Amino acid sequence: MKKISIVGAGRVGETTAQILAEEEYCREIALFDVREDVPDGVALDILQAAPFFKFDCLVRGGNDPEILRDSELVIITAGFPRKPGMSRADVLESNVRIIDEVTDHILAFAPEAMILMVSNPVDTLTYRAARRTGWPRGRVFGQAGVLDASRMAAFIAQETGFSALDITTMVLGGHGDTMVPVPRFCTINGIPISHFLSEERIEAINERTRTGGAEILALRKNSSAYDAPGAAVATMVDAIVNDRGRLLPCVALLDGEYGETDIAMGVPCVLGEQGIKSIVELDLNARERADFDQSVVAVRAEIERLTDIH
Ligand code: NAD
Repeated sequence: MKKISIVGAGRVGETTAQILAEEEYCREIALFDVREDVPDGVALDILQAAPFFKFDCLVRGGNDPEILRDSELVIITAGFPRKPGMSRADVLESNVRIIDEVTDHILAFAPEAMILMVSNPVDTLTYRAARRTGWPRGRVFGQAGVLDASRMAAFIAQETGFSALDITTMVLGGHGDTMVPVPRFCTINGIPISHFLSEERIEAINERTRTGGAEILALRKNSSAYDAPGAAVATMVDAIVNDRGRLLPCVALLDGEYGETDIAMGVPCVLGEQGIKSIVELDLNARERADFDQSVVAVRAEIERLTDIH
């Protein structure tokens, strides 16, 4: 890929840019932010690490949206993160306005791009950007499940002592308190986690996964998570630029899958160079389906709030 832009040179944007540069996923990384000088400073700082990490892609930042011109992928991390005690939905109104503005910049300067939404509430903002652009759903998607699944894997590794390298996990639904960790699809090198963990322990891990973001926020005090989020975004970028066809939980617009339409939420997707290639429909059991439905209700309620925001 030639050019990837990141909107928002805050914590998540900077971490993401750093990883993308170090991994040389593209020849140019552009950072756009409304804070004067900040994106230039972030870009320069990353660039000065080039000799250590042995990369030579260009990293630059600016306050003029023109910097987004001809990006093939735009990652949106602009917006207000939540503060301790706030839910992701609490930042909806302020972030919708930001995302609308950013989407219009992308339409003007990078009309052929893909959009990877990170800003919260990510399901609803992915939906908003998809509708505002009118682009095919393969090109507008969001990051949530890759992070939630990695959190779950970390908790399973902590509990069992097994290497995180051997643990695969699956988290579906909205990126909020109603997200749906699916232990039935979680394994340690192919062996179901139920072989190693009691039902009670698995339930505790599910709950810790659902509140994983809030746990970090409470501990960090004045910052929400950004290390693992940046790595989760980079994992999706890797799948795209290398056309890996990876099966990853992504926020995607549903068009009949899982019996739902006109909603964006986390489902397993095949991700490659054109973005989302397809959505994989899993045979959910009664409990998983009930949890998924509850998540649908929560995300729909948030999407309905959009009609009041202009
Ligand atoms: P941050 O405050 O450090 O950075 C946000 C940046 O956005 C700031 O630099 C701000 O100046 C910039 N910004 C605001 N309005 C803008 C606009 N109109 N155009 C361009 N830039 C603008 O916040 P953060 O910790 O980096 O979090 C960013 C977002 O990512 C938040 O919404 C947060 O909730 C979300 N997030 C999502 C996930 C996920 O898994 N999807 C994980 C972590 C954080």
